Amino acid sequence: MGGYEDQIKRRREAIEERVEAALARSGRPRDAARIMAVSKTVGIPEVVAAIAAGYRLFGENRPQELVRKLEGLAREQGLPAVRFDMIGNLQTNKINAVLGRASCIHSISSLHLAKAVSSRVERRMASGDCGAAQDVLLEVNVSGEASKSGFSPDELRASLDELRTYRGIHVIGLMTMAPQGDKSIARRTFAGLRELRDELASRCPELDLGELSCGMSEDFEEALEEGSTLVRLGRVVFDPSFELK
Ligand SMILES: *Cc1c(COP(=O)(O)O)cnc(C)c1O
Repeated sequence: MGGYEDQIKRRREAIEERVEAALARSGRPRDAARIMAVSKTVGIPEVVAAIAAGYRLFGENRPQELVRKLEGLAREQGLPAVRFDMIGNLQTNKINAVLGRASCIHSISSLHLAKAVSSRVERRMASGDCGAAQDVLLEVNVSGEASKSGFSPDELRASLDELRTYRGIHVIGLMTMAPQGDKSIARRTFAGLRELRDELASRCPELDLGELSCGMSEDFEEALEEGSTLVRLGRVVFDPSFELK
């Protein structure tokens, strides 16, 4: 892992510089946004190398892989505490695998899923298995692509009152994925997410929507310039062949 660990470290320094510069362009300090290392395509040794390089927040998109990574890391000695979030499509029959493991679920894409997560958390709270509501983000299909999951902006506007009755979830913000390929469309998608958040926040001031999870390897600078508070980076972190700029 020696050579790989060095590469991940060097890549992290380059990513850090780009994140800081993008935040500065939008007049925000470095601590306005966090970097998540999306480890879905790599194994435990690569995650350990990323931890050594300084990453503390990881994302997985499949429940089985989340379980596998956490079990693998638990066998490693002397690691600092790290957090894993669930960022991919979640089927209701996999919710229990994620609860108690993911610190935040980024992919609450429908009222049906929100309700299913909430009721399972409430059951766990009632039996003393967990003490607090599950932090979640509401996934929004800002771009309207048919292939993307998430609330449409109109659905989300119409769902807020219902969502607020779900005691097992604690909504902390919004998440989106931009269409790949065209950076100006990606930017518009991120700006759309921020504008929707601002609108919802002014309509429901008691709602906590501080987190905007958006931006991936190809478009994280655009996302940060448009207000992202959490970029989810996979290839640029882990893939030595992904161009760094
Ligand atoms: C894979 C994935 C990412 C990271 O994608 P990269 O382009 O490799 O940075 C981010 N978010 C989600 C939901 C993903 O599934």
